[in-house]
Amino acid sequence: MQFAHVFGHQKVKEQLIRNVENNRLPHAQLFIGAEGSGKLGLAIALTQYIYCSQRTPTDSCGECSSCRKISTHSHPDVHFTYPVAASKEISTQYLENWREINASTTYFNAIDWMEAITKDGNKTPNITREETRSILSRLSLKPFEGEAKTLIIWMPEYLKNESNALLKIIEEPPQKTYFILVAEQSKNLLPTITSRTQLTKIPKYSFEETKAFLDNKYGLEKSRLEQIARLADGNFRVATQLVEDNSTDYGPLFRDWMLACYRNDLKSVSNLSDKLHAMGKNQIQLFLSHGIGILRECMLHQTIDNYQINAEPSQVDFIQKLSTTLNAFFIEKIYSQMNEVIYHLQRNANPKIALFNLSINIRYHFIRK
Ligand SMILES: [Zn+2]
Repeated sequence: MQFAHVFGHQKVKEQLIRNVENNRLPHAQLFIGAEGSGKLGLAIALTQYIYCSQRTPTDSCGECSSCRKISTHSHPDVHFTYPVAASKEISTQYLENWREINASTTYFNAIDWMEAITKDGNKTPNITREETRSILSRLSLKPFEGEAKTLIIWMPEYLKNESNALLKIIEEPPQKTYFILVAEQSKNLLPTITSRTQLTKIPKYSFEETKAFLDNKYGLEKSRLEQIARLADGNFRVATQLVEDNSTDYGPLFRDWMLACYRNDLKSVSNLSDKLHAMGKNQIQLFLSHGIGILRECMLHQTIDNYQINAEPSQVDFIQKLSTTLNAFFIEKIYSQMNEVIYHLQRNANPKIALFNLSINIRYHFIRK
């Protein structure tokens, strides 16, 4: 993958290239970027730039033998560590799946990855003790082709204290060994990781960038493009799924859920949690993203005079009504609780319990006349 194939992030790209050109590439780097940002693409593009035999001041060539091997994830000196689903398993067992998912997108998250390797997005991801051993033995070998070895660790959030040996070599890396850790949030990283790596923050994509991305990829009509860009909130993974998942209309489902919470109708809340649980974690995330979009419109409708609600015509009336039953403070609260649930679903939260608990919290926030 060349830098040119990673959407946007121009400033980050320039900085990474400068580091290579000035021979000031840190041995251990940590890329942190929200879900659906270009962080994994940038890590791979940087690696390709380091190894490329004909790089230019702006990019790798994309054609030399190193570039070709890295872009197909088959360079013998470039290693990947990513979570797996069962104890005792190691990343290389899933190299084919890794190549396959990367060939289609680099915006996938841990749920997509679990689905790719186990057909079950509810499985808990894990970087195993065995993986640490396997990595240490692979890194102890001399480089096969170039001068350097690189290890890209995707989602180091799943590294545990038992990976101490790996953390130790990140601190004192063998000669000519680069580590690039690609994470979503710093709060779930072991403190040893954040203290031993140089941080590069990968910013969330802007609304304009999301529109441009969707326009390039799908060429949607303007109002739908804007609506999806707004819902996706800079997350290209969600944006892609919202375009491709045409079949589910989350509007009525969200309306029923809010109504059940408003009416304190726990039986309906429980039924809805069951229904969503059966749809799977990915759909729940899209459902909550839809809800977050609705709440954002409620907030804008409440605070800006004559605000034109930006939603499907069928949702406008609902947004107006919902705005009268929630005050701005509580909308914000529910908004962040929904984001929290999305975050925890990717860890090991049980979707049914998470949704039920969220409903219990939401029902306290309604203004009942
Ligand atoms: Zn090249």
